[in-house]
Amino acid sequence: MLAVRPGRPRRDRCSRCGRRAPRRGTGDGRRGWRAPGLGVTRCYLDAGAPRVTCPEHGVVVAGAPWARPGSRFTIAFEDQAAWLCARMPASSAAVLLRTTWRALQAILVRVAGELAGSRGRLDGLRRIGADEKAWRKGHRHVTVVTGHDTGRLVRAAEGRNQETPRQFSGDLGPERPALLEQVPAGGAERIHAVVAEKAPGAVMRLDPFTSSRGAPAPWTSFAGGWPASFAAPAGTGRHPLSTAPAGRR
Ligand SMILES: [Zn+2]
Repeated sequence: MLAVRPGRPRRDRCSRCGRRAPRRGTGDGRRGWRAPGLGVTRCYLDAGAPRVTCPEHGVVVAGAPWARPGSRFTIAFEDQAAWLCARMPASSAAVLLRTTWRALQAILVRVAGELAGSRGRLDGLRRIGADEKAWRKGHRHVTVVTGHDTGRLVRAAEGRNQETPRQFSGDLGPERPALLEQVPAGGAERIHAVVAEKAPGAVMRLDPFTSSRGAPAPWTSFAGGWPASFAAPAGTGRHPLSTAPAGRR
């Protein structure tokens, strides 16, 4: 347990907007925030959590500069957890970090929310892919749109319909569709119909990353190995959502 306190410039600020606000009581006393461990030893930051009166948000807990609002984990711990979850099953990451799967879920929501707000998800999109993924034995689906050049997920939503591609098309605005050079031709037809309508100038290209199960019949014959002309562009690596071993499609 490490006792800490914010430096003077970061003290007594609203946890929602970061604005400096007058202090109003000590709140519920001291709190602990889980921080990256030291070897096998768990580490916590221990600090007071006073309340402040923000002109916009009212009486709120003062922000802790080492944690995201509402979290009992430090930013360093959450960033590490998100990095691990992108590279291994969340259940393994939970064991390694000695936390719960449910806590990891909340961490991922916070980290992804922050990244979505700080990065231009739609900037620099030239070649995109779209696909549907099933889980819970095919009972639930998520529709995803990804940027191959940026390696980023640009839109994802639960369900198996045209709503996600349509929202994505709406996100693009009036100018970005003209910049799209390549849109997915494989995968679910309902996806490419919507995307292609928005970007008629883009080349329809078979996406080697998408699942052959959802592809139109003629393409399923490539399931044993994609022809060279359909191979992944150099340097793009594996699709981040791919679950099959690299090179076997
Ligand atoms: Zn505020």
